[in-house]
Amino acid sequence: MVETLIQRNTRKFKAPDFYAGSGNVYFLLPFRFHRLNDRKEVLVNEVGDHLVVPTGTAARIVQRKLRREDEAELYGDLIAGFFIAEQQLPPLIDVLATRYRTKKSFLDQFTSLHLFVITLRCEHTCHYCQVSRVTSNKDEFDMRYEHINKGIDLMLRSPGEYLTMEFQGGEALLAFDKIVYAIERTKPLALEKGKQMTYVICTNLAVLDEDVLAYCQANNVLLSTSLDGPGFIHNQNRRRPGNNSYELTIKGIEMARQWLGPGNLSALMTTTNLSLDHPLAIVDEYFQQGFRSIFLRPISPYGFALKNEKKNKYEIERFITFYKTALQHILNYNRDGEFFREEYATIILKKILTPFPVGYVDLNSPAGSITNAILFNYDGAVYASDESRMLAESGDYTFRLGHLDTHDYEAVFYGEKAQELADVMVNEALPGCSECAFQSYCGADPVHNHATQGSVWGYRPTSTFCQKNMELIRYLIELMDSDPQVKQIFEGWVSQRRAS
Ligand code: SF4
Repeated sequence: MVETLIQRNTRKFKAPDFYAGSGNVYFLLPFRFHRLNDRKEVLVNEVGDHLVVPTGTAARIVQRKLRREDEAELYGDLIAGFFIAEQQLPPLIDVLATRYRTKKSFLDQFTSLHLFVITLRCEHTCHYCQVSRVTSNKDEFDMRYEHINKGIDLMLRSPGEYLTMEFQGGEALLAFDKIVYAIERTKPLALEKGKQMTYVICTNLAVLDEDVLAYCQANNVLLSTSLDGPGFIHNQNRRRPGNNSYELTIKGIEMARQWLGPGNLSALMTTTNLSLDHPLAIVDEYFQQGFRSIFLRPISPYGFALKNEKKNKYEIERFITFYKTALQHILNYNRDGEFFREEYATIILKKILTPFPVGYVDLNSPAGSITNAILFNYDGAVYASDESRMLAESGDYTFRLGHLDTHDYEAVFYGEKAQELADVMVNEALPGCSECAFQSYCGADPVHNHATQGSVWGYRPTSTFCQKNMELIRYLIELMDSDPQVKQIFEGWVSQRRAS
């Protein structure tokens, strides 16, 4: 028994003399670092494991100034975390390779999210929306049956077993008959091909009725809505006749919960200039309406939204300040014993704290456009993402992959345009990102780059995508490092449990 203990090959139980001798002969494995604040920096290895260390540690490591006999604990952590190795090729290199494959395994499923813009018609005229058409012209602005059929055929060619079919608008429920047609057509075909389907309708809930809810209940259809905050914000952002969007949304939320259960309805908010002054009120509104999560989203800074600059254009620094204030308020709910999480932080934290892949379209490398999500527009055009169609609505067709009338599966997903985009969808190969410590927590967004900087490659020093992600990732790591309670709360968000 004693002998077994002595032979155990773990760092903790090795005898002190193991660490004797010249300890500064070691090999560097790939890692990057980022200054967290005046005192600390964070090292991040190739698979996203991180280690917070005193400032200057990265320099000492690469200059071979680290001696294992002087700093046994740090040295051991660096070996265990694949930052350095005592052999040129560490014996556990295959473990690192497996972990890398696991992190990227979202690619195995290829495209899972299929967005069908079932109609462009809408009874709202939100000032940041590019697609509103207050019209009754169904022929012009609803998706035609032959395009729905072809979209379904392409969707079911995806190699993934789990597929999501999401109906968007305009206001998708104005074409509810076409949604029903699409779901009923998909059901037997999906069964035949062994696909597990999830159906989602994005709706402002204004025209929701019991017939719709009964169908959704019978067919496990999820609803996703928009709630921008309390009435004075929501109704300013989301205009409709009667100026009662907020009241209809709240009524719709209650009805949907009664019919479908609370877990089958989610809400998204969009941050406008008005929202920036009210982070606490927005968080409180979500909590009071019974939501236990909120997704704090900046407005997409291009396309139609910029036509109304006064209401929708703001410096990214203002959004970051808004986000941090709101996040602290959310943390206070958690400190009081409530489970209430911020979704963007949770996505990043999953990447920081777990070895698993995260299939979030806007924060992946390769980028989620095409590999994760595809959009079939109401007119049959196929786009790389929702943001790509936003650009097209303002006359920019850079990210149009083809058309359902003329392009088959291979031409859309592996065609010239898709190949061109693949070059700029991998942040490991983008200037700036390739050396960034936060590379494995962040992503690539060629649509944002093109729209805001005029180049699909983008230029990191002035990129608002980069500024936002770099600061939010730094902030989350700093918070966890400085406050063990916050770390415990964050771990609860990732594992969906209340911090004890
Ligand atoms: S966009 Fe910025 S934060 Fe993200 S990986 Fe690239 S350099 Fe890093």
